[in-house]
Amino acid sequence: MSGISAPRGTKDILPGEVEKWQYMEDIVRRVCAGYGYREIRTPLFEHTELFQRGIGEATDIVEKEMYTFTDRGGRSITLRPEGTAPVVRAYLEHKLYGSAQPVRLFYLGPMFRYERPQAGRYRQFHQFGVEALGSQDPLMDTETILVALTIFEELGLENLHIELNSMGCPQCRPRYREGLKDYLKGRLDGLCSVCQTRYELNPVRILDCKEDACRKELEGVPEIGDYLCPECRGHFELVQRYLTSLGRSFSLNPRLVRGLDYYTKTVFEVIAPGMGAQNAVAGGGRYDGLAEECGGRETPAVGFAAGMERLLLALESQGKELPLPRELDAFVAVVGDSARTMGLKVAVALRQRGFKAAMETEGRSLRAQLKAADRLLVKHVVIIGEEELGRSAAIIRNMEDGGQQEVPLEQLLEAPERLLLQKISD
Ligand SMILES: [Zn+2]
Ligand SMILES: [Zn+2]
Repeated sequence: MSGISAPRGTKDILPGEVEKWQYMEDIVRRVCAGYGYREIRTPLFEHTELFQRGIGEATDIVEKEMYTFTDRGGRSITLRPEGTAPVVRAYLEHKLYGSAQPVRLFYLGPMFRYERPQAGRYRQFHQFGVEALGSQDPLMDTETILVALTIFEELGLENLHIELNSMGCPQCRPRYREGLKDYLKGRLDGLCSVCQTRYELNPVRILDCKEDACRKELEGVPEIGDYLCPECRGHFELVQRYLTSLGRSFSLNPRLVRGLDYYTKTVFEVIAPGMGAQNAVAGGGRYDGLAEECGGRETPAVGFAAGMERLLLALESQGKELPLPRELDAFVAVVGDSARTMGLKVAVALRQRGFKAAMETEGRSLRAQLKAADRLLVKHVVIIGEEELGRSAAIIRNMEDGGQQEVPLEQLLEAPERLLLQKISD
């Protein structure tokens, strides 16, 4: 193409597709509100140190995926790669710990990562998530899992399942780390090069490596479940008991891990079958150590995040179509100059009554107008021509079933709801 195109890794969401996004967003907002979560909107960019601190220095995101730049004031700024650290920052900055606890928040919006664009992956992508701050109760862990499931189910995803693990805590995890390193010590040569570098910095991350070689070496690896302290064990058992009490099935996956120290106890993923290897539609868990890492007071917290592009792929792979509603109630088609003036009045009257109405502006033939209206997915076309105008009438055509009827203009101006809400049949 000639001229300027959208930057690599970004995507325009055009009318026709944007309705799907709105539909998803409406469900996210409604379900979150139904669980008592309130929306928070944080800036799209933050001081870089929030993510260096918050996400951790040894992760892939910090190493190569952040959109970081120096602004004109010489400050290092980063476009947010995820939503949790900004929410924790806002909680601490605005002293939300002073209000009733726990504080239940949700967010929804674009995130940015400088990664190689591939199917379903963008440099600007969209996530929603919830964060419940100020509670150590395992009920909160269960609640966030339920919020995620409810959203996905309302969207129509089927056969969802939950994978669960516990990451332990600063008391019990170091012992597991040592046990893991002991096990891997004699097997380093068999690991992929990435995992070899992880061995010292972040051995836990080796557990979720997808390379065949690494998977093979991990066949008899010790599991964190055997290392949990009594508190972590009790917490994990309660999360499972609450899920079971609701008839929710789950599987325990000892390989499901997060590499960073601030993650504690529960970690979970929601899996939607049918998407191949990358089949998680939400990932979450407890991060009792993050607020302190951000320089704030100790704050237990739990949450999850879900990618909206991924979610659309998951729906598509399950053959689910999000409903595309006929957006416009009416398109006012006009033929002739005096019909134009009357059409304008009719369109205004319809809008005043709460109908969504568009009007012909280009002076095209009736045929062309009807074709245009059909493309706009309107419910009704109100046709005003010179002939109808002579009888002070208009024709209402129902675009869903093709039926039409002639109606007095006066009625259309005074009480259009009776005409547009009733089912027209020929
Ligand atoms: Zn523990
Ligand atoms: Zn590996």
